[in-house]
Amino acid sequence: MTTETPSTPVVIDEPTVARDWVKRENRAGRRVALVPTMGALHEGHLALVRRGREVADSVVVSIFVNPTQFGPDEDLDRYPRTMDEDLRLLRREGAAAVFAPTASQMYRAGASATVSPPRVAEPLEGICRPDHFRGVCTVVLKLFQILPASVAIFGQKDYQQARVIADMIADFDLDISLDLLPTVRDPDGLALSSRNRYLAPADRQRALSLARALDAAESWTRRHGLDPTAIETEMRRVLGDGGVDAIDYATVVDPLTLLPLVPPAGQLGDSPHSAGGDQSAEPAGAVALIAAHVAGTRLIDNRRLP
Ligand code: AMP
Repeated sequence: MTTETPSTPVVIDEPTVARDWVKRENRAGRRVALVPTMGALHEGHLALVRRGREVADSVVVSIFVNPTQFGPDEDLDRYPRTMDEDLRLLRREGAAAVFAPTASQMYRAGASATVSPPRVAEPLEGICRPDHFRGVCTVVLKLFQILPASVAIFGQKDYQQARVIADMIADFDLDISLDLLPTVRDPDGLALSSRNRYLAPADRQRALSLARALDAAESWTRRHGLDPTAIETEMRRVLGDGGVDAIDYATVVDPLTLLPLVPPAGQLGDSPHSAGGDQSAEPAGAVALIAAHVAGTRLIDNRRLP
């Protein structure tokens, strides 16, 4: 009996070589899934890779800490970089290729074109991190061009990012389908994030208050219905009690537009209510989103509300 040992993924840093690799896979009749990441991989990323293996024949993972999506006072320089460990994990998961360019391989000298993000990029992160989604859209569009996969796999952990990418794909008629996976959490509820590595044990306890605030939002909604103002107050109370240092937002919004919920005509003042618009086309309910700071680390999490 032989045990199958997965082979080490081919590591590519040149965009033209990466595109040729995908084309070769396609010519050989293999459908390719792309998993874009910034590395420092954890189980959340690996769930995306496993999903890729289910829906496609070959998985390519990009690892690129994209400077253009970080603000001037953000953690670009200290963002964890763990390439050797990432490659070990990706080998274990059976990824076929890794695209890991340097910044100068990704952005030619003098590159100036950028993507103007869709409207859903404007609230929340768009207010706190003004150029973030321009950087994200630009790098993701480039990745879709460099690695012309059939499907791209993203996590709902970055809920607004997933909405932004979905709208960019639709607005630009991009020839790629999007697969979104639920957030992978530690057993105590903390959403996995590369930035959790920054947290000392006591900070990690405080970070747990994001998941607790979302639990509170969900149970409040089940008991009393969808009242955004009351749920926001409840989330802020839990975050405050949990000892986060600052809250960028803790809000309940429309799950598609990420704008404040609008009660449908005739139900003003009632709750529960809908996100408005054509109910057959839009997911019902709402989404609660939090961005908060703990010991100098900015954390985000979210939960769909019933
Ligand atoms: P990042 O490396 O943080 O840019 O994330 C790369 C991809 O992994 C994005 O699509 C994220 O939404 C996704 N991701 C990050 N954390 C998680 C998690 N805990 N569960 C599921 N997906 C995640």
